[in-house]
Amino acid sequence: MNKDRVKTAIEVLLAEIGEDAERDGLVRTPERVSKSLEFLTSGYSQDIEAVLNGALFSVDYSEMVIVKDIDFYSLCEHHLLPFFGKCHIAYLPRDRVVGLSKIPRLVDVFSRRLQIQERLTNQIAQVIEETLKPLGVGVVVEATHLCMLMRGVEKQNSFALTSAMLGAFRDDARTRMEFLELLKLRGDMRAAFDPARISERNDGG
Ligand code: ZN
Repeated sequence: MNKDRVKTAIEVLLAEIGEDAERDGLVRTPERVSKSLEFLTSGYSQDIEAVLNGALFSVDYSEMVIVKDIDFYSLCEHHLLPFFGKCHIAYLPRDRVVGLSKIPRLVDVFSRRLQIQERLTNQIAQVIEETLKPLGVGVVVEATHLCMLMRGVEKQNSFALTSAMLGAFRDDARTRMEFLELLKLRGDMRAAFDPARISERNDGG
């Protein structure tokens, strides 16, 4: 990322929305936005291998591993506005596990990019499948979208629930239910929730 070009772009943006980029409060804003964007999109430059390096362990353990309530913050690719919430991940090990502290870092790698919630959910599930080759993996993401809330459109849809279920989580209803029970999603959320499919959310406008 070329910081000078990003700063110039933000200066242009400030002028175009009718602001005076020279006034006190804004004079360092292009620099701040550039730094902030660099962090918020740092997932593009992160290497999964490096993140997981040394944290894969062979085990004789076949019970469900679950990590709940992982906070994440991402930017919607349609409006460059935040969406954020919680990610819940479970997998059934085949012969190896990953250090638990690495799982939230995997979420960061994919959330610190321009995203849509459905793809974020799928990418997290796929990377766990590819690296751990588990018997199954389940990922549920619940998020609030500021592009919906702030723009005053479709307020009722500002909250979205997505899921990706692979292997045993897709094929075995009991495994899937065990995961969903552990999440203790609100009853109405669970009813609205078809774990076999990724919900389609139209985010136009
Ligand atoms: Zn959006």
